[in-house]
Amino acid sequence: MTRKIAAILFTPLFVFAEEHVDADANWKIRREEVENSRVMRTLHMLTDRYGPRLTGSPNYEAAGRWVVSTLTEWGLKNARLEPWDFGHPGWLNDRAAGYLVSPVKDTLTFEVVAWTPSTNGLIQGSAIEVQPPESPGKDDLAAWLESHKEQVRGKMVMIGKAAVLRVSFDPPHKRLEEAEARARFDPVNPTRPNFPQRTPPPPGKLSANQINEMIDGWLAANGAMMRINDAGREFGQIRAFNNRTFDGAKAVPTVVLRNEDYGRIERLLADGDDARLAFDIANQFYPEGKTSYNVVAEIPGSDKAEEVVMLGAHLDSWHSATGATDNAIGSSMMMEAVRIIQTLGLKPRRTIRIALWSGEEQGLLGSAAYVKQHFGTFEEPKPEYSKLVGYLNIDSGTGRVRGANVFGPAEAAGVLRAALAPFEDLGVVGASAGNSRNPGGTDSTSFNAAGLPGISLGQDPIEYQTNTWHTNLDTYERVIPDDAMKSATVIAAAVWHLANRDGLLPRFDAAHMPKPPKAPEEGRR
Ligand SMILES: [Zn+2]
Repeated sequence: MTRKIAAILFTPLFVFAEEHVDADANWKIRREEVENSRVMRTLHMLTDRYGPRLTGSPNYEAAGRWVVSTLTEWGLKNARLEPWDFGHPGWLNDRAAGYLVSPVKDTLTFEVVAWTPSTNGLIQGSAIEVQPPESPGKDDLAAWLESHKEQVRGKMVMIGKAAVLRVSFDPPHKRLEEAEARARFDPVNPTRPNFPQRTPPPPGKLSANQINEMIDGWLAANGAMMRINDAGREFGQIRAFNNRTFDGAKAVPTVVLRNEDYGRIERLLADGDDARLAFDIANQFYPEGKTSYNVVAEIPGSDKAEEVVMLGAHLDSWHSATGATDNAIGSSMMMEAVRIIQTLGLKPRRTIRIALWSGEEQGLLGSAAYVKQHFGTFEEPKPEYSKLVGYLNIDSGTGRVRGANVFGPAEAAGVLRAALAPFEDLGVVGASAGNSRNPGGTDSTSFNAAGLPGISLGQDPIEYQTNTWHTNLDTYERVIPDDAMKSATVIAAAVWHLANRDGLLPRFDAAHMPKPPKAPEEGRR
């Protein structure tokens, strides 16, 4: 009720009328990006040369160093790596091959699970499939593991039945329809995007992560040769995450097999055949990865230089592909936005600071560490807390920017709506306000959790949730250059506006600030 009254009192039109938008700068920003875009060159470097950029890995650090030198070359100041404590070694796969050896010979398609150990050269063994109980409690699972431990010694252990994926006749969702985009960024009553949410297990039941950790420990303790998971996705798509302990001694070599291969082996086993598999996997652990780095650089401000507008994206990725749509393209667009402003010689009143994060995929760790170190929280603020205008974040793939959601009162959304209004021809429909301090999803929520104005940019879905997000298909080819250029243009203009308007972004006052989140949650993967 209170929120509705507030929304009516501060109608967006009221704020809109007061905002002066710099039409001349907007025109120059558009022209610079159309004529001199570097965004795909940046994407090429981050994906083809430095990908995958798994947190703690030498690839990630090399990508970060390249960003520092590139931003410095473009004329930004104070470009640097800011360390934070990841606490786990880095890890990368050097090479991996796998085969079906009998009853028929073929090559398998799979991805290696991160932070799992290597095989001892080329190893060969018989496949078995086991089916642990569904949504067990700890004691149920422990009892089941104890009674099945003799089966797994020396075996290639397939965990669970193959997923049966029916052919879909529904066309995949590409762009947001105009009406859909307008509803999503409606100033008064925005609809929430339909994003997969992680729900905690019912009381007394284990989470999927807890189940995996127990199974990993059981396989390692009982001499299993390999762990094999079903990718459970169509068209050879594979998502491989990590050994939950980050400790190679607490897991056996583990792969995620494409559903088509997993199902085939399962069916051969059902014929009563001895299905023999072979794998050769070489992984490296990097102890120095315990310290990871966010990448930060600035365009210094003038009369309000101590106030800061931030923009960013996560630079880290999963390891099954080169992390192009998640989120090298987001990093590239944010770099492009500051390049445009810098190259045009525009002198912002406030400091513009770009930050590219690591540890996002392991739970928003890099951005959370940064917010903690620099800003504190609404309840326990540091001196910089009151100096941040807002933080713009992008992390939903290649799709064009269609709107923004800001943590704050309706007036904050009004400011952004005014800044974005000149870009309606590029498909940008507006901005809405939100009030959730729950971290999860992406790095803007690390700012929201602290009560700071995190601004999350909404994008066209394209192939993100369906094809590229965290999969082995997340590569350079899946990025639409024209969308990336248009998004970079819109972002540069929004940042320019926030850096020069008279006031900071309106924030919740003490009476309207939502309660802080109870406990830090694990980020969505
Ligand atoms: Zn992401």
